[in-house]
Amino acid sequence: MSEKILYYSTNRKAEKVTFKEALLKGLAPDNGLFMPDPIPGISAEELLGYADKPYYEIAYEVGRKFLANEIPDKDLYSITKDAYNFDVPIEQVYERKYIMHLDQGPTASFKDFAARLMGRLMQYFLKKENRSLLILTATSGDTGSAIANAFYELENIKVVVLFPEKEVTDRQRKQMTTLHKNIQIIALNGKFDDCQAIVKRAFADEELAYLNLSSANSINIGRLLPQSMYYTYTYAKLCKDCNDKIIFSVPSGNFGNLMGGLIAMKMGLPVKRFVVSTNENDEVPVYWKTGKYKIIVPSVNCISSAMNVGHPSNMARVVSLYDGVMDDKGIIHNQPNIERMRKDMFAVSIDDIRTKQTIQDVYEKYGLLIEPHGAVGWAGLMDSFKDNIEDASPEQICVCIETAHPAKFPEEIKEILNIDPQLPESLKGLEDKEERYDVLENDYSSFKNYLKDKYF
Ligand SMILES: *Cc1c(COP(=O)(O)O)cnc(C)c1O
Repeated sequence: MSEKILYYSTNRKAEKVTFKEALLKGLAPDNGLFMPDPIPGISAEELLGYADKPYYEIAYEVGRKFLANEIPDKDLYSITKDAYNFDVPIEQVYERKYIMHLDQGPTASFKDFAARLMGRLMQYFLKKENRSLLILTATSGDTGSAIANAFYELENIKVVVLFPEKEVTDRQRKQMTTLHKNIQIIALNGKFDDCQAIVKRAFADEELAYLNLSSANSINIGRLLPQSMYYTYTYAKLCKDCNDKIIFSVPSGNFGNLMGGLIAMKMGLPVKRFVVSTNENDEVPVYWKTGKYKIIVPSVNCISSAMNVGHPSNMARVVSLYDGVMDDKGIIHNQPNIERMRKDMFAVSIDDIRTKQTIQDVYEKYGLLIEPHGAVGWAGLMDSFKDNIEDASPEQICVCIETAHPAKFPEEIKEILNIDPQLPESLKGLEDKEERYDVLENDYSSFKNYLKDKYF
């Protein structure tokens, strides 16, 4: 057996727990976020040996470094194989500069990577103990469909998604309401904030404790570990020898994607630098510059809408990895080593004008269609070359992460390029499927009665 990995809380006031406990709890009892300790190692030689493996096998190899003590290898192997049944294309743009497309999953966004593995790991532990969970999620569109699709047909888990009736697009709604089975969808006659408030209240309601309510939100450690896997995959596929170091540009909102990369780097992945690309919500680039972290309220609305975050929920983890303590409000209790943070991560803010310009430039120059989030990543990478000229050299491997499929942003793409992006297979045929969902008034007691009637 390998060394036992436990999970500590970033607030450092709770007992360490196993992966299973961290996964099923979500949040630590002191309201901190779980982090692995120690972070297991992986050598460059080992990684280069993965060059010919398919994605799910590399995911398995990384996963077992964390989970060997809690899940037998053969079980983990079938879990990763089942979760990752789609392509992970890495496309050359020019020289050794690439775009990695994390948009081939069932909802065409990189959130599929985390949600699908997390769902299967939850199912695994629940089935073993003959327990069940009811996952409650409020969504403004994308997270709900990723969770609903990832948990579809899993055993011992039911899902209830609440969305604001008038605030999601037809396609977003259909991605959730055409699934059925263990996935129940509710349209609330209210706003996203109302959905969130109702879900929060349900979690705190003693009378609903019998339902074993759980959340699948982005701070769960079960969503983080899967996000370290595509970084190792990319290294294994692109790097030829142990001298190669890689640069990743990560379009960032809640910094879960970036945290996955930082964990991979801590494991030993030879990363030269992360380019942390944000939209106009620039609290982190400003923090790097001034040493002062100031959250942005309310967050700025940009076309890269999944990154409109004024206080990234994973910042506490980033700070923790650099030996500091930040609480959930963004207050720093122990200073992290900011010099090392600045060295490992180049942080840059890209406004909407640049984002649109980048979509146009990349299309005209390379014939590649990217969407607003990926464009923030690409523009950030280009900006980083101004500060680090040697990174632009033909030998330096740089990978920009494209987090969604352009067809998810048809209006923006039409406006900028005057073309209609082709739907990926996964998003086709929604029009012909039967939609089913319930509509509820915007008040807590209707929701509570609904749950009690439906789940007992
Ligand atoms: C969620 C999301 C992001 C931001 O990822 P974080 O892990 O929150 O930084 C970027 N792009 C898309 C398309 C997303 O859905």
